[in-house]
Parts: sequence; structure tokens; C-alpha cells
Amino acid sequence: MTQVTSRSVEQHRQAIEALLAPLATSRVRESLAVSASRIAANPDSYRGRTLAGDIISPTDLPPFDNSQMDGYAVRAADLANATPDAPARLAVDDQINAGDTAAALSAGRAAPIMTGAALPGGADAVVPIERALPNAFFSTPLPGTDNPEMAAPIVSFTAGPAPEEFVRRRGSDVQSGDTLLIAGTLLGPAQLGVIAGTGVTSIDVLRRLRVLLISTGHEIRESGTPLAPGQIYDSNSVVLSQALIDAGCTVIAWPCRSDDAAELLHIIEKAAPTADLVITVGGVSAGAREVVRDALGPLGVHFVSVAMQPGGPQGYGRIEVPRGGVDLPVVTFPGNPVSALVSFEMFVRPVLRRLAGLARPDRQTLRLPLAEAVDSPVAKHQVRRGTVDSDGRVRLVGGSSSHLLHSYAASSVLVHLPAGVDHLDAADSVDVWRIDD
Ligand code: AMP
Ligand code: MG
Repeated sequence: MTQVTSRSVEQHRQAIEALLAPLATSRVRESLAVSASRIAANPDSYRGRTLAGDIISPTDLPPFDNSQMDGYAVRAADLANATPDAPARLAVDDQINAGDTAAALSAGRAAPIMTGAALPGGADAVVPIERALPNAFFSTPLPGTDNPEMAAPIVSFTAGPAPEEFVRRRGSDVQSGDTLLIAGTLLGPAQLGVIAGTGVTSIDVLRRLRVLLISTGHEIRESGTPLAPGQIYDSNSVVLSQALIDAGCTVIAWPCRSDDAAELLHIIEKAAPTADLVITVGGVSAGAREVVRDALGPLGVHFVSVAMQPGGPQGYGRIEVPRGGVDLPVVTFPGNPVSALVSFEMFVRPVLRRLAGLARPDRQTLRLPLAEAVDSPVAKHQVRRGTVDSDGRVRLVGGSSSHLLHSYAASSVLVHLPAGVDHLDAADSVDVWRIDD
């Protein structure tokens, strides 16, 4: 029987950080084709990605001078002396709609112009329609165009616009050759929008880390298949693949529905060559049949006992895939779904989010008073699940048992009761991690 090493949460956190650190340098870039329709059809391929290189704008934004308002394009000098008693009266030109090309504006004339439409040459201000008399556009085509009076309608203004008022000049947001976004930028709606707006058709982003996720256990079955007595549906493949995606990874989920070490090794051989990291769930405790220990122990994976509850039995190391010729980091979690998810939160999530360049790699920590007294094993860092009352007090949800996934699902915080603490009273303060975002 192998001797199990004991260690603190902090020691294990450091071990996992060191294990995963080389993934930062092995990150490769990949090219993504960009267009509005591709992004709309496949939003998850773009959103939350991290730029691998700077993007230089190939164009000015806006690409041409245009109107910021529905109104009249004018030459400001024509309105310089306008007052309520002596309004400026200008002849109305043809209407300019967004997308039209505009003829130049002559002195003494005003062109009805719509928001985003190109400003005609010679115009240097836009007066909003609300400030014109009449304060509505003449209908198009103009009524009674056979009547000479009506054929040349007149619009009046009682005040002059400020120079450049409501004009959006070409390049006022971005100029051609400017650095549009720098390497490391996380792509969200505004970043992707400005890329699309410049007409860029391809960007380089960091390739997402590919995680081979192996949920193990003779008893686990895929939902949709009937369960024999003693069998359960596989929660862990779902819990962890969702958590990994949230941490910026791509997941290859390949459960090992047996406790046979040969089968687990077969899965690793088949799938590991395309992965950057292997995470296994289950099969690491002190039972008689522990498939992960049996398969990976001989390959050099360390199995340790972390002073944490849930999530005590942990493992980590690098494996050289037999016959695959690949050397990969492996992290092993215990199989109870709450243990697996708490382990992920404690040891892996912050590292992966940092590697992916995601915002807020660490959970937001709040220090809040307890709503009730709680006992905790003094030698262990206990992580409980809870909610926060409207008055800011922390209420525990469910007990400390690690099979209570439903209680986890009803929680909004992880409650930390560190090693050294055996009892806290109501109103004592605890650190909680927000998990509701
Ligand atoms: P293990 O770590 O393999 O000893 O599993 C510990 C407990 O977690 C056992 O009750 C398992 O049945 C349960 N378990 C293991 N894997 C899963 C899974 N994928 N989904 C739900 N429960 C699981
Ligand atoms: Mg098992």
C-alpha cells in the first residue's frame, strides 16, 4: 500500500500552479475568420477570446464625414446672423439618406440629411430637424411640384449652429494605421464590433486550451440510458465540462465507464495527443478499486491528501502517454460531484482563467457575518455552500457532505472555514467566494 502525502490547501495550490505554468508558453495562436454573419452564427467561437497580436486598423472610422442627427446639412456661415426676428431662410436641397452619395451643398441652401448619411461637400454643420421651421421634413416627392412656389420649399432657422455641430468627422473614432486593439485584449461585444466595423476579415487569437476530461466509474451511465440497480447518471462530465468552458477551455469529454485501468489508459492514448491537459474525476480514494490511481500511479502521478473537505484526495503530475509519445500534465479530482467542483474552484479555475487571459481570474471574495453558528473539522479547510440573506448574512445550504450537488446548485457563495477553526458563532465573519456570476 502506498503512503499518502498530506499537505495544506496552499501547498497543493502551488503544486498545481507550477504544474500548469508551462501551458502559458506552449499556447499557440490560431486564425479566426471574421465577418458579422460568422460572428452571429457562431458567437462562442469569438466571444471571450484573447487576441494573440495587435490589430492595426486598415481604415478610418467613421470612414467618411457624416451626420449625427436627422436634420439639415448647412454651411454655418449662412446661419451666422440668424435670430428669431430675422431667421435665415434657405432653399431646401435633395434629401440625403444613409448610404447615399451626396452632391456638394451650394451657399444659401440646406440639405435634409438623415443620421449616418454622408455630409455633402461644403457643409460644415447639421441643424437637428427639431430646431428647423417647419420642424418636420418636407414629404418626398415634394407636394405640388408643378407649382413653382412649392417646388422650391424654404426652411428657416432662428439661430446658427456651433461650428462642426452634429458632424461626425472621418477618422474621429479610429484612423487608418492606428492600433485598434492590442495583443492580450479580451474580445467582448464592443471589441468584436469595432473589429467588424473596420472590415478586418481575419484575427489571430490564442488557441483555447484543450482539456481531456475523463469522468470515471463502473457505476456511471449516460442519461437517457436505463439504470441498473447500483448505477447512477454521470453528473461530473457535465459539471466539469461546463466549468472548464467557463474558464476559457475547449473540452474533450470521454468518460471511462468502468474501473478498468486498461480502459482508462486506452482513452488517454486515443485522446491525449490532441489535448493540452488531462483532468480525471473519481477513482482516487482509498477504495479497493481506484481506477485512476491504478492506471496513473505507475506512470508517476502523485496522489496526495489535502487538508480540505470536501476534496481531500487529490492527484497531479505529468504523464508520458504510452505509445502516444505525448507528455502531458494531469490533475485528478475525487468523484463526488461537490468534491470535484470545489477542487476545480480551489486549484484549477484561477490558473486556467489566468492562462486564457480572462477577466477576474479569482472569485470575488467578501467577508460577511454568519447567520448561524457552524462547526468545522479543525484540521481541515472546509468549504461549505451558502447563500447571502438580504441583510448580508451568510446562510449555509445543505450539510457538509460531498454528494449534495442539489444544495450546491441552490447556492450563491462558497463559504470558507479555514484549518484551525472548529467552531464559529452566528455573527462571526467568514470569507465567501461569489459563485453566482
Ligand atoms: P470515487 O471518487 O470514484 O470513489 O467516487 C465517489 C463518489 O462519487 C461515489 O459515490 C460515486 O458514485 C460518485 N461519483 C463518481 N463519479 C460520478 C459522476 N460522474 N457523477 C456522479 N457521481 C459520481
Ligand atoms: Mg469511482
